[in-house]
Amino acid sequence: MSMSSNPASLRVAIVGAGIGGLAAALFLRRAGLDVSVYEQAVELAEVGAGIVVAPNMVRLLHRLGLGDELATFAVRLEAAWEFRRWRDGRVLFVQPMGEECERLYGAHCYVAHRADLLTLLQDALPARHLCLDHRFVDVRETDDEVELRFAARSGRETRVVSDVVIGADGIHSVLREKIAPKVDARFSGLCAFRCLVPAAKAPGMALRPVQTLWLGPGRHFVHYPISGGRLVNVVAIVPAGDWRTESWTADGEIADLAREFDGWDNRLHQLIASATSTKRWALYDRAPLEQWTKGRVALLGDAAHAMLPFFAQGAAQAFEDAAVLATCLRTVDPSPVAEALRRGSGFLNPQAPVSPTAATPTTADAQSKGVLGTPAAPFVNPAASKGSAGGSFVLDLRDIGTGQPRYKWQKPLPLLVTRGIVQLHRQTADRA
Ligand SMILES: Cc1cc2nc3c(=O)[nH]c(=O)nc-3n(C[C@H](O)[C@H](O)[C@H](O)COP(=O)(O)OP(=O)(O)OC[C@H]3O[C@@H](n4cnc5c(N)ncnc54)[C@H](O)[C@@H]3O)c2cc1C
Repeated sequence: MSMSSNPASLRVAIVGAGIGGLAAALFLRRAGLDVSVYEQAVELAEVGAGIVVAPNMVRLLHRLGLGDELATFAVRLEAAWEFRRWRDGRVLFVQPMGEECERLYGAHCYVAHRADLLTLLQDALPARHLCLDHRFVDVRETDDEVELRFAARSGRETRVVSDVVIGADGIHSVLREKIAPKVDARFSGLCAFRCLVPAAKAPGMALRPVQTLWLGPGRHFVHYPISGGRLVNVVAIVPAGDWRTESWTADGEIADLAREFDGWDNRLHQLIASATSTKRWALYDRAPLEQWTKGRVALLGDAAHAMLPFFAQGAAQAFEDAAVLATCLRTVDPSPVAEALRRGSGFLNPQAPVSPTAATPTTADAQSKGVLGTPAAPFVNPAASKGSAGGSFVLDLRDIGTGQPRYKWQKPLPLLVTRGIVQLHRQTADRA
């Protein structure tokens, strides 16, 4: 049965209650739509790991009225992309954040525990909109509506009828499989170790409000404080060896992590030795989908455009998707839903340039209200695109005025950052 409480408004079923699904629920609800989120887990939980909450996401959290609360548990960065040399910690590059960040990008940049961020979003959504223990199984679309089938752990099956479906079911999206051609995962040859370290056992330099990246032969090591400074988050990217598991929950071995960083600065070994467990995630790349919507179904977040984690933007992009979809759908009657989604996917879709002159009322509305940025150019932060030292945090990747395709990764980042990332895994001999 549908959970619809207000038959006059568009019914939107969201599959998946990760960061993207919850963000979509909050934006769609704010747009006056009748939202229900269906999550396979019996309770919401995030992995024990940190996340960079970049300014493009912080601005949207403010729009949801959650920005002040974010600041109560997240750590505000004073500097980011602080690159250090692997053996001795010499600083190679640093990007000041602090007040400069707000001036350039309209918001501060934070680092947070993923669980705290998820709780913030969950608490903002009235419980009646969230249906746990609903594993999406299948979808069937008619001219007028969509029927979704869910299974509970007990084996009980539920059918839900909706006007629109949003697939926010993550990197291994089942909904994507139903509406889009198979997306091949290309193994990157790398994997990420992730762990948390109590601040009391961490070296002093790791407690600074700085996102620090140590660069060395074939590897890099990232750390920043989270949870009000009580923990240090560690992400280490290394050659994967024979590790192929792409999962948030797969356990790795601390000893394997330590071995990868033999000969690196002792402070990193202090961090590794102070962790009690580690997760290990094999990194796969995926070509962008041609289309993120089909009929009444749209994908967002990792389901639509999973990306490698090097720019710490996946969740922020899911947030942007959520805000854009809400703007596309808020003025729509149930009948022309597919058309609205298709138009929305014009500016969500990496392959589809959108001409502002061809804007329909929905896209025009999105533009004039400035979904993500300023009224004149919603996806561009003008201050950021004036060639300042900092990255634009991806907003100019979506310049619908010029119709640029989306993931031109290098474009908005400072040269040094780009160079650092590119060299990272290539010029190993030079750095040894
Ligand atoms: C090592 C690493 C570091 C990262 N660091 C950052 C960072 O610093 N900043 C950043 O912005 N991004 C970062 N990312 C990317 C970010 O984590 C993801 O892009 C983001 O979590 C995607 O959110 P999502 O809501 O699309 O998917 P998910 O968070 O994966 O949520 C999907 C949800 O759908 C549910 N689900 C799945 N299948 C079904 C089903 N059949 N039925 C019902 N429910 C289902 C799942 O249980 C889950 O709750 C990082 C990624 C990695 C791997």
